[in-house]
Amino acid sequence: MSDEKKIYELIEKLFPINRSITGDGVRETLSILREYIPLKIHEVPTGTDVFDWKVPKEWNIRDAWIKAPAGNKIVNFKKNNLHLLNYSVPVEKKVSLDELKKHLYTLPEQPDLIPYRTSYYSERWGFCMSHNQYEALTEGEYQVCIDSELKEGSLTYGELFIKGKSDREVLISSHICHPSLANDNLSGVAVAVSFAKHLLEKDLNCSWRFLFIPGTIGSITWLARNEERLNKIEYGLVLSCVGDSHGFTYKRSRQEDAEIDRIIEKVITDRGEEPDVRNFLPYGYDERQYCSPGFNLPVGCLMRSHFGEFPEYHTSADNLNFIKQESLKGTLEVLMDAAAVIEGNGTYLNCKPKGEPNLGKRNLYEKTGGGQKNSAEKMAILWVLNQCDGNHSLLDIAIRSGLPFQDIRNAADALLQTDLLRKFNKD
Ligand code: ZN
Repeated sequence: MSDEKKIYELIEKLFPINRSITGDGVRETLSILREYIPLKIHEVPTGTDVFDWKVPKEWNIRDAWIKAPAGNKIVNFKKNNLHLLNYSVPVEKKVSLDELKKHLYTLPEQPDLIPYRTSYYSERWGFCMSHNQYEALTEGEYQVCIDSELKEGSLTYGELFIKGKSDREVLISSHICHPSLANDNLSGVAVAVSFAKHLLEKDLNCSWRFLFIPGTIGSITWLARNEERLNKIEYGLVLSCVGDSHGFTYKRSRQEDAEIDRIIEKVITDRGEEPDVRNFLPYGYDERQYCSPGFNLPVGCLMRSHFGEFPEYHTSADNLNFIKQESLKGTLEVLMDAAAVIEGNGTYLNCKPKGEPNLGKRNLYEKTGGGQKNSAEKMAILWVLNQCDGNHSLLDIAIRSGLPFQDIRNAADALLQTDLLRKFNKD
């Protein structure tokens, strides 16, 4: 089965589960992910101090509905979990239409869609419905029931650490707190799982850490528990909204010229696509936490449609039809290409820098051929020789030459077989 089909099937499996920032939906989601990759699941108790925050009470939900005056259920959480204001406190009572309306959320501009709304940090209850349904509500007494529970429990997150030869770390983070929404962010979760599966089969130079965490509070919790190891993180990516048919959007890290920023922009360009590159802003997903000034980690955010800028965002239209296998495939390819750069970049030294070395007598021209057909390969060799003065990495050379990173890597590998190139050691 193709990667993209497997990714899509995982999304289908996860889609119906009601997730939030804590609770059994997160646990069920992580236990499904653990069928694919050897995740470690952490539980952090309610009330734990994490920097300026506290781990909240755990929320669980059994059922929620509204019954019309005639007694029929007009809103049913079990049919669509977006109907419930996520983290609603329990309620069971009869209310007038006016009272009910104070607890209803709709999208007047998109009257067919159900919005996704949350109330994590203030204790409220509410329901979401289409504006059309709202407009059709008639006077009378409604019965509302939210069978939820807010209790001392824990916050749950998943972590996978893949040890490479070195301690240098790459962080891949995706949020797992959204209920039945496909692009935001089951696409990010499922692509990360597939990416991790591929890396698990490789012999790696860097160590790779995957986080599956509830948004904001999850990354803050993880950072608070891992502060002493953060200096090992050399590259990081938040994955979100990576399954729709839009081209790639990349939000740079706070550093804006971190190597990960250059890598992602380069690998997308190498595919012949033009990424929509945005500078850092302190709003968005967990890159906000990783890039807070006390950490300033080199973590960017890879998306297709930019969060908040597509009409399906945080609505019932962000469903299984909105994401495409082809797009999921492309995202995985970008990640695999980025991994090839992270794993394969290096700095080398031209051992015969005075004049161009004689490539013919080392069979390098023969290897590359004389015709136009192989001129890119020859150009890659010339670029590597010219730029390998100890000041430029292979990534620098790929960017400067406009040649794909892999061509530059292949040229360096060919030259390393000769006396012309060696690994550069700073000291
Ligand atoms: Zn979201």
